[in-house]
Amino acid sequence: MALVIALLGLAIGSFLNVVIGRLRSGESGWRSRSQCPECHAVLRPSELIPLFSFVVLRGRCRACRKPISWQYPIVEFSTAALFLTAFWLHGGAVGLLGGEALPILRDWLFVAGLTVVFVIDLKDMVVFDSVTIPMAVLAFIFSLATGAQPLNLLLAALVGGGFFLVQYAVSRGRWIGGGDIRIGAMMGMMLGFPGVLLALFLSYVGGALTALVLLALGKAKWSSQMAFGTFLSAATLVVLFFGQRLLAWYASFLS
Ligand SMILES: [Zn+2]
Repeated sequence: MALVIALLGLAIGSFLNVVIGRLRSGESGWRSRSQCPECHAVLRPSELIPLFSFVVLRGRCRACRKPISWQYPIVEFSTAALFLTAFWLHGGAVGLLGGEALPILRDWLFVAGLTVVFVIDLKDMVVFDSVTIPMAVLAFIFSLATGAQPLNLLLAALVGGGFFLVQYAVSRGRWIGGGDIRIGAMMGMMLGFPGVLLALFLSYVGGALTALVLLALGKAKWSSQMAFGTFLSAATLVVLFFGQRLLAWYASFLS
């Protein structure tokens, strides 16, 4: 069963690469065939196999020999790895057949949405409302279906969105973008309360540590901008998978 899920993850990862590509280029046509972004050679079916095609082609386009972005194999591999992680965290095959199918499906959906936000913000420092708003609505539905309380989710979305709304208003949009407000609301719908607070905390810690490392290495200046959506989406995933354990550990630490 793990093999089937890994293959499913690879296939969904490949699909996410297409979604990311279409969103970034602004193309709306979903019917056009996959092609090389450099020379527009239409890809053969044998060149559309996740991971495998990248390895066989040795990371270069068959037609123009230009390098293929590492984004493709990395997204394919990480989607498969995260799908398997969700599967195992919910008890593996026993869980899947014993009532955990819906939570696993929910986690897979969140993995897909967060991966798209992560990659696009990392590459372009842009967050698309066409991703975060539908994901927030889907997250609300799936969280309710897996036992979350509606008021808890609304509170969490208000906390997540409000946290950025206040900063946006105070700085008149200089510190953060409006897209972060929608990510905050989406995070709330995915994690509930207090998970959303933990995710915000982790993204600030992760962002600050990364900034210090980049400054120390001379790869960034104090005036440099950071793609904060990448930290938010990564932290959301960590809390989705390990939030209960982290909160329990913290509670035991306090007592
Ligand atoms: Zn090419």
